[in-house]
Amino acid sequence: MEKVRIELQNISKSYYSETAVTQALRKVSLTFRMGEFVAITGESGSGKSTLLNIIGGMDTFDEGEMLVDGEATFQYDDEDWESYRRTKIGYVFQDYSLIGHYTALDNIVSALVIMGQDTEDAKKIAMDYLAQVGLAGYETHRASELSSGQKQRLSIARALAKNTGIIVADEPTGNLDSETGTQIIQLLKELSKERLVIMVTHNYDQAEDYVTRKIRLHDGQIISDVQVNQEEDSLDNSVPVITEDPTNKMDFKWQCKIASMFASRNRKSQKGRAFLFTSFLFVISVASFVFIGELLMNQDDYATRSYSQTAFYKQDNTRLVLKKSDGTGITADELEEISKVSNVKMVESCDYANDINFYINEGVDYEYQYGEQRRRDQADDIKRVAFLKEDKFMMSSDCIDDDDLAFGRLPENRNEIVLYSEDEDVLDTEKLIYFVAHNIWEQGEYYMTNVKIVGILKEKTEQIYFSNDLCKMLSMHMDSGIFRILYNYDHDLKDYRMKPALIPIINENLADNEVRVSGLMEDQPPNGELEYTWQNYDEEGEPLGEASKGKVIVREDRHESTEWFVEVSESFFDQYYQYDGTQATVYITSYAKTDSVIRKLKSMGYEAISTYRASMTDYISELVNQRLIIIGISAFGLFALLLAEILILRSLMKIRIKDYFVLKFIGMKMQIIKKISYFEMAGYALWAMVFTVILMWILRYVGIPIIQNIMWYYDIGAYLLFALYNMVLVMLTVAFFNRLLKGRLNA
Ligand code: ADP
Ligand code: MG
Repeated sequence: MEKVRIELQNISKSYYSETAVTQALRKVSLTFRMGEFVAITGESGSGKSTLLNIIGGMDTFDEGEMLVDGEATFQYDDEDWESYRRTKIGYVFQDYSLIGHYTALDNIVSALVIMGQDTEDAKKIAMDYLAQVGLAGYETHRASELSSGQKQRLSIARALAKNTGIIVADEPTGNLDSETGTQIIQLLKELSKERLVIMVTHNYDQAEDYVTRKIRLHDGQIISDVQVNQEEDSLDNSVPVITEDPTNKMDFKWQCKIASMFASRNRKSQKGRAFLFTSFLFVISVASFVFIGELLMNQDDYATRSYSQTAFYKQDNTRLVLKKSDGTGITADELEEISKVSNVKMVESCDYANDINFYINEGVDYEYQYGEQRRRDQADDIKRVAFLKEDKFMMSSDCIDDDDLAFGRLPENRNEIVLYSEDEDVLDTEKLIYFVAHNIWEQGEYYMTNVKIVGILKEKTEQIYFSNDLCKMLSMHMDSGIFRILYNYDHDLKDYRMKPALIPIINENLADNEVRVSGLMEDQPPNGELEYTWQNYDEEGEPLGEASKGKVIVREDRHESTEWFVEVSESFFDQYYQYDGTQATVYITSYAKTDSVIRKLKSMGYEAISTYRASMTDYISELVNQRLIIIGISAFGLFALLLAEILILRSLMKIRIKDYFVLKFIGMKMQIIKKISYFEMAGYALWAMVFTVILMWILRYVGIPIIQNIMWYYDIGAYLLFALYNMVLVMLTVAFFNRLLKGRLNA
């Protein structure tokens, strides 16, 4: 007796719809053995497909029991059914169930690789079966481009290539001409010698000569079951029953390999959809890039406070001031080293000069006013200078080099400058400039001098670069108590009556040891000469070393600019006023880089602060509100993108469900089906992110302000956050999609 492969015991199956219950099978009992070629006939709607689907493990039944190779299936779980479909059943579907966008070859290869076959072997087998069904030469055609007959033959080739012990076929010749139909039936006949073949047919006449058994269904019941031709005895070469599914031993890595293979096949075979998915994810990715940038930009609250000019008059959020941690002077080599730190734009040794305003254009920066009384003891019609704009600050030629010049040279002498001008002829001309250190000098004090233009900058700017010497001269701090001129020693008080800290101004016409001061208010010495005592003091106000004495010339007229200047010779200046150089200014590329540059400088042994942050005081409620609104919009935006992606992408992904049905029917593990979408979507998301970053860099260089601003905040951490957000989002969407898919596939 030949071996029983399938046994059905009292199988019943009903379909429930909203309006009716259809009983498709009623207590069907059948036994199928090895070597049989069974034809199932019956009119349309009699339950033939339902019966075949149950045998093929595609459908469940309500009542009864099905035994496979003597083993009851009532305890089969989803995975057991997957394994059953994969290893035991070759199914020829009535509707072909092909993946339309895959090639003919790939449709077969897919069925084989999920059985654990090596891809190369699978290709060889697939080619062989394509030839057997007459599709040689069609391997690279898409399944959707084949005719109905070709599709049917492809569906047959796929079922046969699996080389399973059971082949079930639902009207396999329905769409074939009678000659090809007969060929197929002959092929099935051949195969049935070593297998069990069950075929549903409308056209029994065609099969009559070949089948060994005819079963007739009517209204879900068997009305006849007859032996027709004698089966050939060929048990010896029957296809061995697979007892162990090889893929059950395959690990997670194998599952991922298979899933990513299908994912890449999907990407390649449906370029239009790949483009659609990538485009959608690209939109999400660009929006998230901007929102994340806005969040990072607004996370810092300094922008919402008011600026106090007491410490640093120049309001510039890219300026840092730094000192060495040990308090010593910063050398030129060290400045050079600092300038190489990433995101340091320039280094300026004359730190204080950066808070000194200069005024160059009469009528724009300053103007003259006449006729007002300056002081009671002066004439009525005195010319007075009024400063109009405080937007220009000194910078030294430290900040530029020869490459920045279009003409001329860098300043070498004290009163030399470089600036930008469209008119070349200004080179070597002189210009009057006023200077005011608003937060250091007394109210109303200014310094004025003629400067010579020795160089013209390439790039248009209002900034003028001054000689180091001039910057240093004007940034001598006179309030630290280190340098004082002492005179009018009072013997009763045992102290000098006047020891003002004066601003030293170099006057080339003075002899080495001469100093000249303007009238000094109520203690004004008589016109003529006076002895001075010079004393250096330390920061606590204690005298340092020996005091020196010299001749003071008190000017008869007042200094044009101020009475707080002391004019000295160059050698005197060099001797007594030494720029200590302990504090330098660093300009960074963007405020966003403040923390990272400060950290880096700290690791190099410097203490740096942001002048902008140090000068920030009270919050301005209007700005606070603005900032909170932007943060709110950005956070909401990121959340809205999450919802949009889950809803829109998930529904876009539904166009793939049909394919997953096919994969399920040919026995793909659900675990692999689920992974395909992860791999596929992650691939699109990756592309979308790469395109986003490329786009952002382009926009940055094109000069879109909002992008330029947020790009400063994009450091490694921000890029990681961006990548993480987009990846998590897409993974979450796939997880939601898979839940929906599982429901559909199991319905
Ligand atoms: P056959 O293949 O013999 O034409 P089927 O097995 O496809 O018949 O169908 C048997 C009966 O079950 C028919 O009345 C059909 O309408 C019904 N039926 C089949 N599949 C479904 C389904 N998915 N939902 C509801 N009714 C169904
Ligand atoms: Mg049918």
